Amino acid sequence: MITQVNLLETPIEFLKGVGPKRADILRKEFEIFTFEDLLLYYPYRHIDKSKIYHIADIQSEGAYIQLKGKIVSCELVGQQRGKRLVAQFMDETGTIELVWFNGIKWVQDMLKENREFIVFGKPTLFNHHWNITHPELIDPKTQPQSLVPTNFQPLYNTSDKAKRAGVDSKAISKMVMSLLPQVKDVIGERLSEDIRSHLKLMPLKEALCNIHYPADMQALSQAQLRLKFDELFFTQLKLLKLKLLNSQKYKGHVFSVVGDYFNVFYKNYLPFPLTNAQKRVIKEIRADMGSGRQMNRLLQGDVGSGKTITALMLMLIAKDNGFQSCLMAPTEILATQHFETIKRYLSSMNMRVEFLSGSTKAAKRRELHEALRSGEIDILIGTHALIEDEVQFKNLGFVVIDEQHRFGVEQRAKLWKKNTIPPHVLVMTATPIPRTLAMTLYGDLDLSVIDELPQGRKPIITAHYFEKDRLRLNGFLKKEIAKGRQIFVVYPLIQESEKMDLQDLMAGYEAMSQSFPLPQYALGIVHGKMKPEEKDFEMQRFIKNQTQILLSTTVIEVGIDVPNATVMVVENAERFGLSQLHQLRGRVGRGGEQSYCILMSGDKLTNESKQRLDAMVSTNDGFEIANIDLKLRGPGDLQGTQQSGILDFKIADLVKDEKLVVYTRNLAMSLLDNDPELSKPQNAPIARYLAELMRKNVYWGMIS
Ligand code: ADP
Ligand code: MG
Repeated sequence: MITQVNLLETPIEFLKGVGPKRADILRKEFEIFTFEDLLLYYPYRHIDKSKIYHIADIQSEGAYIQLKGKIVSCELVGQQRGKRLVAQFMDETGTIELVWFNGIKWVQDMLKENREFIVFGKPTLFNHHWNITHPELIDPKTQPQSLVPTNFQPLYNTSDKAKRAGVDSKAISKMVMSLLPQVKDVIGERLSEDIRSHLKLMPLKEALCNIHYPADMQALSQAQLRLKFDELFFTQLKLLKLKLLNSQKYKGHVFSVVGDYFNVFYKNYLPFPLTNAQKRVIKEIRADMGSGRQMNRLLQGDVGSGKTITALMLMLIAKDNGFQSCLMAPTEILATQHFETIKRYLSSMNMRVEFLSGSTKAAKRRELHEALRSGEIDILIGTHALIEDEVQFKNLGFVVIDEQHRFGVEQRAKLWKKNTIPPHVLVMTATPIPRTLAMTLYGDLDLSVIDELPQGRKPIITAHYFEKDRLRLNGFLKKEIAKGRQIFVVYPLIQESEKMDLQDLMAGYEAMSQSFPLPQYALGIVHGKMKPEEKDFEMQRFIKNQTQILLSTTVIEVGIDVPNATVMVVENAERFGLSQLHQLRGRVGRGGEQSYCILMSGDKLTNESKQRLDAMVSTNDGFEIANIDLKLRGPGDLQGTQQSGILDFKIADLVKDEKLVVYTRNLAMSLLDNDPELSKPQNAPIARYLAELMRKNVYWGMIS
């Protein structure tokens, strides 16, 4: 890809010193198939071998150092497994012990002559003496002449399996050493000369050599910068190019009017004034849906910011223009609730709203299919069942996907087939995504943000309790119930053992029933093993305030709206991720009453869980939470990003390189503004490399 000739595509087994066996390990363990794959297998760290230390200067453990001196004595000590070779090594400032447990014979041979050596290793303090176990011994006279600079020794990630087969970091570093001189001259450039020289970026060829064997520290950091730049710049360029292609490829339905459905509802039935953020977002989206291009948009808004009503207003605009809409939710409970809410809102409007899920009976299903095809149904609400092939619409114009992280990309892509002109798509998410991540993960979508909560909401008070506070907790819950309020209690779900989760939940239920006895208190319970009807029954009891406490596993995580519930108790809160905790907290604080979130945990907490719980106590702001989450866990673990593949950066880091993300995004944007086809001669290298990236990436092919 970087080159004009095929040398880089040579299978890795043809590299000197590799051979079929090691090639097999490289392929299986590191996905290194070709010369190029090895070239792009960057080291994670370097050891500075440019400097020789004095023994007297050794102060701390842990860092690799290099010493120069002579072996003054050497003896075998210990028995059997404790048997080791101990040598005294001296320079002009002091002595240090060198110790070998293995390869003793080989070392003894090496040490026979009283010559000068360079010793390389990690000093540790043992019995008040510095020593180095299994140091590397280098004879300065016989140091091989190398074609690459070797002052900095690269360290590569390996696996146990690879190490057992002899492919350790050192072996990889040797392979790279023999690779670099061979391939250096075929590495072409992929940035335009003006970008490269304007930013003073190191040429690609040099960067790829220096990332492995840098000439000096400065060259290393320049190489890192160059490669990070490329990764981020081309990712952004690809996303923007896809966005551009989509808008050219797909014409959109033109929603040209705002008519009676919207206006009548707005004037007569809107249950509360919209927030300014809701109004702004509706305007933004309306403009987009009227523009003639197909909309692909992400609507971001913290839990409770009122995304549902916003989506409904837009569905009314679709109706005004003669189109059907559908709303998909990730769970049956959530879909049901959306259905109930929207039906209630629209009860005085002449519109037909229907529900479809996996549990819809065959007869009803047939009836729905018919009514969808004839256009009698205006809004269809449901689960994954909506995207099945037999669900055909007369003219589907607008699709809303709630809490998208539960929907796979392929599922989303199926929507495109529902009409000859693809519908406008609005993906709603309550998971606040840090800016850099959103730019990268959703770089081909337009973004709207509801950044304001409805008025009169009191900030939720969050506290962290331990098991010893249980009585205090129960007392507090009783007071809240006496005020007429309701309570959620959530137990963690560990996927590996649903049985055990259920045990936790059941044990919790037992204990709670003791502390909150009938007839004064009624408890409900919901979990993933229940049939949809049973779940629904329990949910309805809670919504109608027939039960005061609802115990559940995380099934209630997303979207449930019970304004009278004021307390969210999270059991074993340390077992939840940050964004999940924030989602759970968002289930309360929806009415005008003061609400609380109590995080229960065990006494022993890891540092990271403590930071998570502290973050929850200290802020209610979803974006702040998302940023902390990103810092604690790294982007790869964030919800919804796992399968995306686009976050698999080799060297760039969305957290640490935030500025570079923004910079490359802007640069890519202005490049495409000036040369959308990348057809100007100076942009030819960029165009060539981009074309290859676009060909390679299956994931993005499916979205468009
Ligand atoms: P989310 O964005 O988390 O999906 P919802 O759409 O469920 O939030 O809305 C949360 C609650 O706020 C609901 O009870 C809804 O009726 C209410 N709500 C939404 N918009 C407003 C508003 N502008 N003013 C007052 N309450 C609102
Ligand atoms: Mg919602």
